Amino acid sequence: QIDFVMQETREGYDKHESLSEMRPATEHEKILEGRTKLPVYAYREEFLAAVKEHQILILVGETGSGKTTQIPQFLNEVGYGELGKIGCTQPRRVAAMSVAARVAQEMNVRLGHEVGYSIRFENCTSPKTILQYMTDGMLLREILTQPDLASYSCMVIDEAHERTLHTDILFGLVKDIVRFRSDLKLIVSSATLDAEKFSKYFDDASIFMIPGRMFPVDTYYTKAPEADYVDAAVVTVLQIHVSQPLNGDVLVFLTGQEEIETAAETLSERSKNLGSRIPELIICPIYANLPSEQQAKIFEKTPSGARKVVLATNIAETSLTIDGICYVIDTGFNKQKTYNARSGMESLVVTPISQAAANQRAGRAGRTQPGKCFRLFTAWSFQHELEPNTVPEILRTNMGNVVLMLKSLGINDLLNFDFMDRPPADALIRALEQLYALGALNDRGELTKLGRRMAEFPLDPMLSKSVIVSEKYECTSEVLSTVAMLSLGASVFYRPKEKAVHADTARLNFARGGGGDHIALLRCYSEWAASDFSPSWCFENFVQVKNIKKARDIREQLAGLCDRVEIDHTVSNSDDFDATLKTITAGFFYNIAKLGRTGEYQTAKQHKTVYIHPSSVMAKEEEPPPWLVFFELTFTTKEFMRQVAPIKPSWLVEIAPHYYQETDIEDSKTKKMPRTRRN
Ligand code: ADP
Ligand code: MG
Repeated sequence: QIDFVMQETREGYDKHESLSEMRPATEHEKILEGRTKLPVYAYREEFLAAVKEHQILILVGETGSGKTTQIPQFLNEVGYGELGKIGCTQPRRVAAMSVAARVAQEMNVRLGHEVGYSIRFENCTSPKTILQYMTDGMLLREILTQPDLASYSCMVIDEAHERTLHTDILFGLVKDIVRFRSDLKLIVSSATLDAEKFSKYFDDASIFMIPGRMFPVDTYYTKAPEADYVDAAVVTVLQIHVSQPLNGDVLVFLTGQEEIETAAETLSERSKNLGSRIPELIICPIYANLPSEQQAKIFEKTPSGARKVVLATNIAETSLTIDGICYVIDTGFNKQKTYNARSGMESLVVTPISQAAANQRAGRAGRTQPGKCFRLFTAWSFQHELEPNTVPEILRTNMGNVVLMLKSLGINDLLNFDFMDRPPADALIRALEQLYALGALNDRGELTKLGRRMAEFPLDPMLSKSVIVSEKYECTSEVLSTVAMLSLGASVFYRPKEKAVHADTARLNFARGGGGDHIALLRCYSEWAASDFSPSWCFENFVQVKNIKKARDIREQLAGLCDRVEIDHTVSNSDDFDATLKTITAGFFYNIAKLGRTGEYQTAKQHKTVYIHPSSVMAKEEEPPPWLVFFELTFTTKEFMRQVAPIKPSWLVEIAPHYYQETDIEDSKTKKMPRTRRN
């Protein structure tokens, strides 16, 4: 039992009356009727008139008012689709896919035909496509090949308030494009009221407001801080479930897949234990890597006599709207990319959200009727510990990819690029340094041939460097598989609790013969490919079919990009894993750790103490290798290296002579000597 106290009430404005249905309607008719009930619908004509009059429009409306799904359709309905495509950017892949699917359904067309989406590694559009949803990152890539966005008549930069890195760069670019493309309509759409800032940035563009439709939401805080917010969330869901009227679903904000899975498991166990007299609880997870069939489940109407509980990441804060939510449980955290400009390291860290984000989350409870929001933190903490607003991503990111991208767009003077919020000069300079160290820029800061080739790949500069270097070490085929597996962003290994031992054995099997996680991933991919991509092979080896299939898709895309930069991706050197690791090291020579005398690893240049992540095949190595290359750092309880492989220090001097000198690698030998003598 958790004690909550009520602290504030948000007053609603504008009550909404539901229309009673006169006759049974078909599924599609119901959808169309739903459209007319959305707040934007009432402003359709006014909005279109404003678009006609202004080239740039800042559109503001509460989440769920219909901006994302309706605005592109409105534009299409009055003929903009005949002048060119109507684009709409989304910061999140899941949102782009889900919204495109919804709009295709509303327009009664097949997804990928008139309505499509493009996200990294997946293009679901055709020459027929008129409405194109895409991630902001994909639009950036498109500008590389189409600097004036010639194929578009309208562009909606949606979810502008999220201020993702890519959206921020897009701002600078589209602001320039509209100057010489007077026929291009630009709509910058945001869910928050700080439209003034957007307007000012876009040379005092007009602001179009869609009045919200919100019911009051009562906010409750915990009396004392909660130590385990996942558990507290589960307890609160059950408290709501047994004590509150049934006609209201629950939305829980957690930080990632792992937490969501844990919460889902605990919740289903405990709700079973409550016995059969308690109404059914339908548990729906939603996070970025969830397969799309399961994503659709969160939108399904809750059957009567049951209650839905959606366990979501930040994605449900503004990108996706789920109807019927009355209760919001806010853990007060999300996962944020943070960047340490001094160490040059970027990591995903569970971070307290801002007050603005907490209010957005609370608002999700009051869309269709009065709601309640349970904050798993204290009122004091809200007032004193949360920042008023989320810091834009551009101010907390590794700028490498950004700089590479801007450079390849021909923007050389980065320090004077028109950023809405200027990234700190030292972050820019560090990125320039890293790209210079990778050989992507020359000493005048211009893109080299290598840099130009690297910019073709939608990968971190370190990964794209590896792909290109693979040509030299004649192991492109292996490196593509490895890079594809690394880029997944999810584990390919399946580890059900009841079969954890078997699963671990299967995983460690791939590591036999050495080469750490990188080569284990490579072996895993190659064996699967050799099995003719057999699902039963995956089953036997505790490999998640969906994820490894995704790796194959990524690999195919990368192979296609290799063709573009004239690298033969079939070249293979399968027996020589050293070649593959050397190639990886050529991209990742910043990410090197060496074993210190205390038995702990330290990063090679910054001397920061780091640990092998428990999920690594090398986590239980009896003789930890003296030198490691790692893929990334994540900070949970400690600074962990994820995906590590042993390397020879001599490679560093061979591959990155400008970064490592003999003294760097001799260091360890001399330090080691006294220890050997003592022994
Ligand atoms: P906004 O962009 O203003 O936040 P949206 O256009 O995303 O609003 O949402 C409008 C409505 O469309 C919401 O009621 C939402 O529930 C519904 N909707 C959006 N995507 C889907 C989907 N995939 N399935 C069912 N309904 C959806
Ligand atoms: Mg939206």
